[in-house]
Amino acid sequence: MSFEVREKDLLARIGRLQTKTRKVETPLLFPVINPAIQPILPKDMGETFGFEALITNAYILKKHFQNEPIKKGLHRFLDYDRVIMTDSGAYQILTHGNVEISPREVVEYQESIDTDIATILDWPTGWKVTSVYAEKTVNETLKRAKQFFEIKTREDILWVGPVQGGKYLDLVTESAREMGRLPFQVYALGSPTEVMENYRFDVLVDMIMTAKMNLPIDKPLHLFGAGHPFMFSLAIALGCDLFDSAAYAIYARENRYMTENGTHRLGELDYFPCTCPRCARTTPKQTSELTQKERETFLSEHNLYVCSAELRRIKQAIKDGRLWEHLEMRSHSHPALLQAVKKLRKYEQFIEKHSPIVKNSGLFFFSSVGLSRPEVVHHAKNLRERYVKPKQANTLLLIPQTLTKPFHKSREYKQIAKLIDEDKENFQKVHVCFYAAPFGVVPIELDEVYPLSQHETTLPLDKETIEYVANQVANYISRTGYGKILLMEDPEDWNGTILNVCRKVSKKKNLKFKSFSIKKASSMEKLRLAF
Ligand SMILES: [Zn+2]
Repeated sequence: MSFEVREKDLLARIGRLQTKTRKVETPLLFPVINPAIQPILPKDMGETFGFEALITNAYILKKHFQNEPIKKGLHRFLDYDRVIMTDSGAYQILTHGNVEISPREVVEYQESIDTDIATILDWPTGWKVTSVYAEKTVNETLKRAKQFFEIKTREDILWVGPVQGGKYLDLVTESAREMGRLPFQVYALGSPTEVMENYRFDVLVDMIMTAKMNLPIDKPLHLFGAGHPFMFSLAIALGCDLFDSAAYAIYARENRYMTENGTHRLGELDYFPCTCPRCARTTPKQTSELTQKERETFLSEHNLYVCSAELRRIKQAIKDGRLWEHLEMRSHSHPALLQAVKKLRKYEQFIEKHSPIVKNSGLFFFSSVGLSRPEVVHHAKNLRERYVKPKQANTLLLIPQTLTKPFHKSREYKQIAKLIDEDKENFQKVHVCFYAAPFGVVPIELDEVYPLSQHETTLPLDKETIEYVANQVANYISRTGYGKILLMEDPEDWNGTILNVCRKVSKKKNLKFKSFSIKKASSMEKLRLAF
């Protein structure tokens, strides 16, 4: 097995990928090297910037340098002793309308230059294309992939099988399923570059998730052309392990300065929001006095530092089990990113299935966006599918969440517990559950189970969250079979929504129902009588 997973959070993983040159840790960013026009030497990419891997383009190498990389070997040719991946150049070939190289030649060339990770010559789908064209790209890529296994001679190279289909998700499904049956060591999502350039991160979520759900989950997934650090956490959270970035250099050429939250034009900055070794020693004004070439180098280097720092933050977040929090924070960099994170609701069941649920730290709940996080989905699923109420309980007493956690240690609950205690006989019949955001219904005997007490929630709750909790309450009452429902209502925090659903579902199921305001002192006496 060339890929070993060490840590997981959401669909993200920290893994070890064994290549013939050395073992590398994922998620891994491969800066794109174009030996013909390279602002930063490959050697410095490793020694100064700490990049363990690079990617370069086999087609460009062959076109510009022919046999030189074959004679020297790619590592010596680039003067880089770490891991090198080669892209087949399919994208360039298509955009230049050039077909002077065959799929066979691309495979043979990559073997003869001794690359570590190699890509077959696929046929990228692109963005503004018809479904008929898209289908053609899927079929042609698959045909080439099958032929490839008859052409390749080297077993020590990791081969990449690209998934195509673009925005046509049924085609992505088909492509991922068929490619997934072939024994590639790495899979890739082909050419989402235009989707990203158009800020359609919501479409990107669909594309990645469709590929992910139909590919072997234990193999690494490469996302081609995902070069901006502000979307790294999104792609990694969805299970992309490998990325390549030409953006650091392209942006530099256009005087654009990357940050983990977006991009600035260099000329518009008065202060550098960065303390990388390059930015720490200069000011935007000073850089404006540099030559274009010097400025390009400065920006390339800064951009790389930013990419590398964001990747490290994400890895730490995976280790801490706080990738969701990191993702939500980044999603506020741009409305299109938040839109993409909202799209995760569509895939919450799959993400929950593959994500660890128990973590070392508590979770932060900010808004209804967090309702899709696996811990919330997991609790709802558990309650729905596995939970059985105490046998003798006939009365459900619903109490709103308290600031104190676990809830049963709160002042509010202690008052009620005293009441119940006074009448031991009836106590057997009363079952206390809390209604709480974001988890919905929390039976008292579970309120110390992770993460039902280990979370912080923003108040006041937003409308969608209140509705979610109300829905959970209604479903819980509908399926559990109590005879009587007593609701401690908190009109301020819950807007009457919980009261309304409880009333409605009790009527429908023919259950006795009473509600009391938790804010009124007289409620305790009334509650006692209601037992
Ligand atoms: Zn910097």
